[in-house]
Amino acid sequence: MQGTAPRLEIRNLTRLFGGACVVDDVSLSIKSGQVMCLLGPSGCGKSTTLRMIAGVDMQDSGEIWVDGTLICDGAFTVPAEQRGIGLMFQDFALFPHMNVADNVAFGLKGTRAEKLSRVEELLAKVGLMRLIDAYPHQLSGGEQQRVALARALAPRPKIMLMDEPFSGLDNRLRDGIRDETLALLKEEGTAVLLVTHEPEEAMRMADEIALMRDGKIVQRGAPYNIYNSPADLEAVGFFSDIN
Ligand code: ADP
Ligand code: MG
Repeated sequence: MQGTAPRLEIRNLTRLFGGACVVDDVSLSIKSGQVMCLLGPSGCGKSTTLRMIAGVDMQDSGEIWVDGTLICDGAFTVPAEQRGIGLMFQDFALFPHMNVADNVAFGLKGTRAEKLSRVEELLAKVGLMRLIDAYPHQLSGGEQQRVALARALAPRPKIMLMDEPFSGLDNRLRDGIRDETLALLKEEGTAVLLVTHEPEEAMRMADEIALMRDGKIVQRGAPYNIYNSPADLEAVGFFSDIN
């Protein structure tokens, strides 16, 4: 099983709020080094799906597997901090009272020298070594985003969950940061589940897109296959904003 198992697999994940089925029988699998985009309109259940994988919400039914090991089946659950998962959310801010070095080192274990070496490695990769002693309020939005990425990747997570991580940035910066982020994720070999409501972002970043609507995955495939052959008229409409 090990070696051939996907890095992350979710099977038949379902979540009810009140009487409503917000995540409805969702199954997905992601390999190391692969970027999967969960793409769909606001309110379709993307963040709820991510929160269950992160371990901050619990499904009503279905299973979550990491490297061929069951980590949560709705009753049994591995705690969030033991799942080897990195998180990057739009409003998942840097710690304002810590400098850049301490922010990036936050989730690291080991000696001071070991931590510093990893911090410097990542800051070099995101091009921010010169800001190692700076505080978050001294950084631009794009710089804060790069530090947040370095912080999330520092402990070498097996899986990275990203929820609309670029939506707080202005258009001018966004494409550049998307490309840099993608390059670094590929270099680290992390399995990535990226949530977005922007087809353009999914087209730019995904190896595979899972199109979500009303809690369900309605189509899955390589970006250009989905773009060229949308499953139905609603999917055509959703993609029609891209030119
Ligand atoms: P998305 O991230 O795709 O915009 P969400 O997963 O945040 O969608 O939300 C999906 C649906 O579930 C929405 O209708 C939202 O209002 C509802 N929802 C999310 N969290 C809760 C909650 N804690 N309690 C009740 N309803 C919720
Ligand atoms: Mg959301």
